[in-house]
Amino acid sequence: MPVSAHTSLEPKFRSGYFLCIAGLALGYFLAGRIGLELAVFGSLVTLVWLPSGMAVVALFRWGRHYWPGVWLGAFAVNATASNDLILILAVSSGNTVASLVAAALLRRWRFNPDIGSVRDVVIFVGAAALLSMTLSATCGALSLLLTQAIAPGDVGMAWFTWWLGDAVGVVLGGFALVTYRHGTYRRLWRGEHRTALIAALLWLLLVSVAWSFVVPDDPVGQMLSLTFPVGVLVWIAFRLGSSPAAVAVLIVSVVGSGLLVNQSGPFADAELYLSITKFWAYINTVAVVALLVSALNAERARTINDLARSEARFRSLTQLSSDWYWEQDADFRFVRVEGEFVPEHMLVIAEEVGKTRWDTPALNLSAADWRAHQAALEAHLPFHDFEIERLGKDHRTHWSRISGIPIRTPDGKFLGYRGVGENITKRKLAEKKARHAAHYDALTGLPNRALFMDRLAQEVQRAKRAQLQVAVLLLDLDDFKGINDTMGHDQGDRLLVQAAQRIKACVRETDTVARLGGDEFTVILHSLQDTRQIALIAEKIIAAISLPFVLETGSGYVTATVGVALYPQDETQIEGLLKAADQAMYAAKAAGRNRFGFFTPDLQEKAQHRLWLTREMRVAVREKLFSVVYQPIINLQTGRCTKAEILLRWTHPATGSISPAEFIPVAESSGLIMPLGEWVFEQAAHEVQRCRRLFAADFQISVNKSPVQFSNLDKTVAPWGERLALMGLPGNSIVAEITEGLLLGVSPAVQSHLRSLQAAGIQLALDDFGTGFSSLAYLQKHDIDYLKIDQVFVRNLAVSSKDLALCEAMVVMAHKLGLRVIAEGVETALQRDLLTAAGCDFGQGYWFARPLGAQAFEAFVVQQNLPAAQVIA
Ligand code: C2E
Ligand code: CA
Ligand code: CA
Repeated sequence: MPVSAHTSLEPKFRSGYFLCIAGLALGYFLAGRIGLELAVFGSLVTLVWLPSGMAVVALFRWGRHYWPGVWLGAFAVNATASNDLILILAVSSGNTVASLVAAALLRRWRFNPDIGSVRDVVIFVGAAALLSMTLSATCGALSLLLTQAIAPGDVGMAWFTWWLGDAVGVVLGGFALVTYRHGTYRRLWRGEHRTALIAALLWLLLVSVAWSFVVPDDPVGQMLSLTFPVGVLVWIAFRLGSSPAAVAVLIVSVVGSGLLVNQSGPFADAELYLSITKFWAYINTVAVVALLVSALNAERARTINDLARSEARFRSLTQLSSDWYWEQDADFRFVRVEGEFVPEHMLVIAEEVGKTRWDTPALNLSAADWRAHQAALEAHLPFHDFEIERLGKDHRTHWSRISGIPIRTPDGKFLGYRGVGENITKRKLAEKKARHAAHYDALTGLPNRALFMDRLAQEVQRAKRAQLQVAVLLLDLDDFKGINDTMGHDQGDRLLVQAAQRIKACVRETDTVARLGGDEFTVILHSLQDTRQIALIAEKIIAAISLPFVLETGSGYVTATVGVALYPQDETQIEGLLKAADQAMYAAKAAGRNRFGFFTPDLQEKAQHRLWLTREMRVAVREKLFSVVYQPIINLQTGRCTKAEILLRWTHPATGSISPAEFIPVAESSGLIMPLGEWVFEQAAHEVQRCRRLFAADFQISVNKSPVQFSNLDKTVAPWGERLALMGLPGNSIVAEITEGLLLGVSPAVQSHLRSLQAAGIQLALDDFGTGFSSLAYLQKHDIDYLKIDQVFVRNLAVSSKDLALCEAMVVMAHKLGLRVIAEGVETALQRDLLTAAGCDFGQGYWFARPLGAQAFEAFVVQQNLPAAQVIA
């Protein structure tokens, strides 16, 4: 009895379970009763045993532990047909076991109740109906024989009828039940097939009526009438699905068997068994056909669905990676162009159905390019990333990128092309912008250094072929830093933009003006025959720059210094040309700015020497190869020495001593002046501390402070004032010597640096007075303490000379402003006497002492300050 070894028959004893058992038993009983109405063999063997289908489906769907429902139903229905308890028990057990086996086989072979394939039909009809029902037929026929309900001669026929009735019951009832889905009919009724459904039902009714009344008695008419329902059933199975088809089959069979029992309809035959067999063969065929049709239809639907899904998948991928899809025929005319187009796209793609790609002109493709593309198509080659630039109807250029592959039939016949297109306008514009940013200066719109180098290389190439000259002008704005510092960077930017325009206006359209960065510009002048022209252009540029600039805060004034280098005379390499122009500009700056200078070979040497100096100085700073000397400053009235100037000395291990006049500018331009200056200050502070202790409490040492030290702030060292305080020295033990250049267009940063020195008590001396602007206004404005008359005035001092008059005037003026005067470069007694007579306060020079090492200096001071020495001085 157990159906299979691994099945646990443990029922789930819930109330729902008992209800289902009861419902199943009742259903079985009622269906059985209908069956018995169609019984033969004295109500023992029936024509159609629908309960078997119901039992198989219940056990398959709900689970085998519902078998008691089957058994009870079977027992009850058999009890109404027979009085023999043994027979009743045997038959109902046979029914139950057959149903269990059928359900188990359906599960084992994974029967799909949606009849998804032909395989499901085979399993259902073959295993559940034909195979399993042999059990119940065998059981039933044997029981009938053993209880002597039938004669042994009838056993075969009884078995066959039993088996057929059960099997047909499974096919008919089971088919209808197993395919039933909740909501199927409601959906059908509400859906688009409603009219079709009604039509089908009416048709079935009509066929049934036709069978019973209208069908003629002749065999041909009967055969024809049999085909009527088949068509409808196939149609239902195809259109409405398996479940409605099952119901329709059921209706046909119920009507048919009803007629049959009454000995009418197309199957009615004198021989009962013959008519039954004919009938069930017909019904079974019809049912299996309906099943097969719905199975095939499900398979077809699945295939279509799969296709649609894969199509959707590829379509979405295409959409992701491109903007449109196109197809061309064998003549390369578009037959299909699809995509999610915005109007802008339409402007871009210009791939119109009926046209070829080259029917619409492109901006970026020449006739030759198109021919090449056409040739590739004619060779049936795939192509990738074919970029087309077209002018849209919006008068802007649009870019598209096309890829395509040839389409062929499976046997290789060429049909055309298919491919995708992409609107790459945005990307192209971004690339263009990036390229522009890489080559142009954002502020002035001029080419930047990279593009300048490119152009220069081109010009040099051209000049080489044509045997012409190329001039490279390097222009630097003088005092631009002052504009930036005093007026702000935005005003500085305004000035640069205007300067750029002015420079451009001075040269030909075909000459290149570039901005190298900061306030440095370059100009490439090509195809020039003589250097006079170049000089004229340089002068024109300098004059243009010297005109006032219109700024928001007023007018701005700058000057320009220009260095010129020529190809091929000065240099043949482009890097070298720029360097040569730079050297020429450096020399022009040194010569006093606001001018231009041509490169000369000695500039090259000078530049190389500067380079060498810079390198050597770095070593010297590291290895402390510098030293200091002190030059006494003598009070001309008393002859005493209470002041000195500290001066830097550098003795190079190979070339010997190098003059500060030579290395200080290099130290300034390389930034090495910063550590050096601090170190000099350190020495001065220590020496003045000694001098104050040894000689005089008001001893002062002057320290030269370069403008570079004012504009660059070294935050790693404390300000001079603080360091003096730490040593217990007052600020006025040090005098900072500055030059007029520093006070010219003084920036807020320099201003505050000066203030902080003065706040600490450090005094200021204006060095080399008379050589520069000699502006009196500065003296007062910046609260200068000492004026140092430059050597040039002292050198040629003679009685009633012009220089003497100048010196006298300077002294008077300084005294009026409350400054004291130091005369530099006093070399003779006459100079000393004239200066003393002019009222000059202090003298410094070889007449008194050369700059001395600390020891010699101290000895000098001792000697100088002896009472007797004063008399001699
Ligand atoms: P300066 O500040 O005008 O220094 C005076 C220069 O005149 C010194 O030259 C000194 O040796 C020289 N001198 C003094 N008396 C006479 C004289 O009677 N006749 C002649 N012909 N020359 C005399 P030095 O030491 O060669 O310095 C040159 C320049 O280098 C200095 O000119 C100063 O501007 C700069 N310098 C020197 N030491 C330093 C320093 O430590 N820092 C900075 N920033 N600059 C320094
Ligand atoms: Ca000085
Ligand atoms: Ca000086």
